[in-house]
Amino acid sequence: MMDDEYLRNLMVERQLVARGISDPRVLEAMRAVPRHRFMPEYSRKNAYEDMALPIGQNQTISQPYMVAIMTELLRLSGSERVLEIGTGSGYQAAVLAHLAREVVTVERIPELAGTAQVALRELGYENVICILSDGTLGAPDHAPFDRILVTAGSSDVPIPLIDQLGEGGILVAPVGDRASQQIVQLIKSGGDIQKNYKTHCIFVPLIGRYGWNY
Ligand code: SAM
Repeated sequence: MMDDEYLRNLMVERQLVARGISDPRVLEAMRAVPRHRFMPEYSRKNAYEDMALPIGQNQTISQPYMVAIMTELLRLSGSERVLEIGTGSGYQAAVLAHLAREVVTVERIPELAGTAQVALRELGYENVICILSDGTLGAPDHAPFDRILVTAGSSDVPIPLIDQLGEGGILVAPVGDRASQQIVQLIKSGGDIQKNYKTHCIFVPLIGRYGWNY
């Protein structure tokens, strides 16, 4: 059996570098985070494959390429405070923890929030705060944020998230209908919001007060 570090390096070269991911810090973080440790036993054998995988509760851990491209769009330098909506397995939060000062991550499903928190603690990520809540409301007690990443799809970016993004901040989210979305990078600057539309994608729905009903 090939070792996990070897498979991770292969994942980075073949799935990320080969498709144009070039931020060296993002590549380094994805070489470092043990993706398999954020997965249930039944998904671990495929942990470094080029696909999203089930993590229970009808939810998924995103495809490595999608994690990389969304992370790259955040343009992290290391000093930022980041809000992630949709903790899921905790893997994306761990990648962000390598690249930012602090990560606040919000999940609505108690079982997933619990498992992710345990994995993050066991792996020693001390700069991640896990919250069980409706993430469409953001995390007002911890706002404002330099960066916000939404990892579930909605018809539009929830207003509370735009409000909780600080001046000069960047928000990245999948936006569209329930079946398919497009990644939007939103930059807040001088009271204006600039929107850049990127790759097409398919995410599970963002469910909550400012998201889908179910
Ligand atoms: N970032 C995750 C990871 O690294 O494993 C993958 C996220 S998964 C594609 C989407 C997650 O968003 C699911 O765990 C889902 O329960 C969660 N979610 C959906 N609506 C939410 C909401 N309103 N607040 C918080 N989490 C939500």
